Amino acid sequence: MKNFQSLSEIKSEISAGKLTVCQLVKHYLQNIEKKNGRLNAFLSIYSSEVLTQAQIIDKKIEKGTVGKLGGMVVGIKDVFAYENHRLQCASNILEGFESQYTATCIQRLIDEDAIVIGHQNCDEFAMGSSNENSGFGVSRNPVDEERVPGGSSGGSAVAVASDMCQVSIGSDTGGSVRQPAAFCGVIGLKPTYSRVSRYGLAAYASSFDTVGIISKSLEDAALVLEVMAGADEFDSTISNEKVPPFSAFMSGKEYKIAYLKDSIDHKGLNEVVRAETYRVIESLKEEGHQVDEVNISLQEYTLPVYYVLTAAEASSNLSRYDGVRFGIRAENQNLEEMYKVTRSEGLGVEVKRRIMTGTFVLSASYYDAYYTKAQKVRRLIRDETNRLLEEYDFIVSPTTPTTAFKIGEMSDDPMKMYLEDLYTVQANVAGIPAISIPVGVDNKGLPIGVQLMSKCFNELELLDISNQIITFKDQNR
Ligand code: GLN
Repeated sequence: MKNFQSLSEIKSEISAGKLTVCQLVKHYLQNIEKKNGRLNAFLSIYSSEVLTQAQIIDKKIEKGTVGKLGGMVVGIKDVFAYENHRLQCASNILEGFESQYTATCIQRLIDEDAIVIGHQNCDEFAMGSSNENSGFGVSRNPVDEERVPGGSSGGSAVAVASDMCQVSIGSDTGGSVRQPAAFCGVIGLKPTYSRVSRYGLAAYASSFDTVGIISKSLEDAALVLEVMAGADEFDSTISNEKVPPFSAFMSGKEYKIAYLKDSIDHKGLNEVVRAETYRVIESLKEEGHQVDEVNISLQEYTLPVYYVLTAAEASSNLSRYDGVRFGIRAENQNLEEMYKVTRSEGLGVEVKRRIMTGTFVLSASYYDAYYTKAQKVRRLIRDETNRLLEEYDFIVSPTTPTTAFKIGEMSDDPMKMYLEDLYTVQANVAGIPAISIPVGVDNKGLPIGVQLMSKCFNELELLDISNQIITFKDQNR
């Protein structure tokens, strides 16, 4: 069966009588069976139930009562609650845990007749940039299996890139949707913070966590966002901002675009990625957009601010995994010891490092020096970013400083790993929407992504400019 690039392609085959949802689901299940042993993208696959659901959806199509997403097969990162299905955040501490309800964003997809095929591998509690922190082993990049797929939504990007599902739902706290999308050659969209309900998304750093989409086409990303976004009584931080028809994104307007010269010229950036980014900038100029070089004075503080604040929030959020309420519990007579042993055995090295860092920055003696200070700098970065986005429609940059690196290459150097997030964290620190689109490959054939950021709630134009870049690239192949 062909690798469908969008739901509309699938729908037209279905209405021409050439395809049924049952056949489509079987196709994905076969692909998973063939590839997952090696790629390790899915942690659980709901084979028998998706076949039953496919039959029901085929009937609805016949009757003309099917929802907007009929024929869409979705994979979800192992951080989303799905009633009566396991949820482990790729962590051993949650072994045996099952969700009692479904996350709002996932429920909205199901209500429009999307089918959830399984839970996908990721870094433990979404902390990481390579998928190597998973309690279930690394997921492999389908372009080169010796390389990481990126993280933390690594399995989600692998599944879309290798056609094990049509779309994946991931989470993006500091780049976890955009970075793996860039490494695997697919699209990664992080909407504005508060655009999509976080109810049912396991919390890592609540003031940064955003539900995101990984897809092969902008069309699918737009449609899925349209379905998931909007007010939800179960998330007190959700925005009541109107949800525009995202699928009508192709206006082809001319825009004012900024690029951060210093950060593109940063010495840590891979030469090929830099060249590709400048090539996109040139093509934007050729297409008639105004593109200016700018600099943000606080750029160098973005990554430290991100890591201080997310560690602090994580240390608080993860205190609930204590052996009493969820998952595993160490055998012990004494309560204090039980907490300690459960957490020592159940949590991985990186998660423990962040809990300890977070506890330190929140401790009475250091709170002002680190936590309060980082909060203040966050505000300054946000204000500066917003000011720039009042003048410009978008900020363009690379998504990642490198292409996909080898498994094991950075795993014993956390600082080097954190630098992978250099370009992506700004959008989360400022709460703005951002997207990564595939624009080329390096000399080894490894995908390169370019990132665009925009002002809050401007996903529609973000999709439009991305479409212009992709169309221009395709025409000039
Ligand atoms: N790599 C970043 C981190 O480890 C981002 C993770 C994410 O977005 N969930 O914090």
